Amino acid sequence: GWDEEAQTSSTQFWAIEANGQTTRFGSQMTAWRDDEYVSLLDNAGFNLLPPPESHDWPVSETFEGKLFALLAEKAKASEELPLNTQRNKRNSKLDIPRIFTISESEHRIHNPFTEEKYATLGRVLRMKPGTRILDLGSGSGEMLCTWAWDHGITGTGIDMSSLFTAQAKQRAEELGVSERVHFIHNDAAGYVVDTKCDIAACIGATWIAGGIVGTIKLLAKSLRPGGIILIGEPYWRHVPATEEIAEACGVSSMADFLPLPELVSSFDEQGYDVVEMVLADQEGWDRYEAAKWMTMRRWLEENPDDDFAKDVRAELTVAPIRHVRWTREYLGWGVFALMPR
Ligand code: SAH
Repeated sequence: GWDEEAQTSSTQFWAIEANGQTTRFGSQMTAWRDDEYVSLLDNAGFNLLPPPESHDWPVSETFEGKLFALLAEKAKASEELPLNTQRNKRNSKLDIPRIFTISESEHRIHNPFTEEKYATLGRVLRMKPGTRILDLGSGSGEMLCTWAWDHGITGTGIDMSSLFTAQAKQRAEELGVSERVHFIHNDAAGYVVDTKCDIAACIGATWIAGGIVGTIKLLAKSLRPGGIILIGEPYWRHVPATEEIAEACGVSSMADFLPLPELVSSFDEQGYDVVEMVLADQEGWDRYEAAKWMTMRRWLEENPDDDFAKDVRAELTVAPIRHVRWTREYLGWGVFALMPR
């Protein structure tokens, strides 16, 4: 499909193996105008130099006259930003869909983990003070901030929501750990750090690198030898009998998630030891989902004339029943600690 507004073509593939196991892949290609390439380079900290002469970069007949080249130089004082930052909607600010920003504005934790579960995970990982953590999709920063407070870790979190990132910085101030943890508002796709970390995490945002396999590969690039990867991911408590049930759980396809034993074997198949695991429970799901309902209700009362009010209204009407009938029953959630063999 071609998205006119985003100027992006998307292709999806379903690879169906002989045993019926299905894996979904997707690829996207964005087209940019000449002037947009200039601003992309600029955004990534490059300074434009005079263009090269065409005889400096000869091309084959097929491409004669069809390509243009820009020459740019990386500015000295660069921020730690990935080069492949893209805007999903052109000319719009980098952010996540508004429904999340509204419904989860009061959440400190944007997944079925509770404070207690994060505390347990922090304890069982046996981290020493000074442990360096990278967190892709860091949300409102609760994990890094509380672990900095409890265990003296240092960390960097990247998140695409400007609101959640601002809340994360505020939380770090509140706990007096702003010197230890830093939060960056950006797309985490492709994000790799120069100084390798002890723990590389993606908790409930593995779409950032196209699924668990891609996310583990991405995190591994920032991990020191002997370090730990943390993956937070849903799994099927009961495999839905039909795709309709999967959709009712808010999942686009049954194949998006695995049952717990298959999820754990998938880590094994990728060459990782599962060295720890903390699972959420249904009350954790309730905290994550049910807390959205009052937030949405209050937002509706305060913003009756907002263009988006009808969408929030529609969501609030169906969310509680969808949660108790489907999501709460069918989906489990957990964080898995992995070490490469
Ligand atoms: N790990 C956090 C948040 C999980 S929710 C926690 O435990 O609370 C998923 C998070 O991923 C959201 O905060 C959302 O803003 C962020 N996100 C979504 N797409 C992203 C992307 N491409 N890059 C970085 N963050 C992204």
